[in-house]
Amino acid sequence: MSHNNSWDSESQDNWDSTALQQVTDELRQDLNYLINSQQVLEEARSGLDELCGDDRMIIINTLLPSEEYNIETSNGDQLSCAICIDDLLSKEIIRTLQCNHRFHVKCIDKWLQSHSTCPMCRAHVFQE
Ligand SMILES: [Zn+2]
Ligand SMILES: [Zn+2]
Repeated sequence: MSHNNSWDSESQDNWDSTALQQVTDELRQDLNYLINSQQVLEEARSGLDELCGDDRMIIINTLLPSEEYNIETSNGDQLSCAICIDDLLSKEIIRTLQCNHRFHVKCIDKWLQSHSTCPMCRAHVFQE
């Protein structure tokens, strides 16, 4: 009996360490993936000026998510789009830049195709 117990316990240990190794490997892969995507993002950020068209807009969409404007939650700080001078209306799709200036997506995207700065304060759009 005692022999059986010892065998059971050893095989249990082996199984645990194999499973643990698997989990560790998976975690390491996830981490590598995260680090890689972070590097890709960094490269995209620094190389944005050389990108144009769709590639550029994909990066802009990734770094500056657009959202539906809600006048109730906007605190009333900026209520009009400086590009078209129209008011921002609830349910319109807007993009908030890192300087907290807000524009219609259709207006700012056209601007960002050839500029990397905020049209209001000239802050670099992707500077952290
Ligand atoms: Zn606009
Ligand atoms: Zn700004």
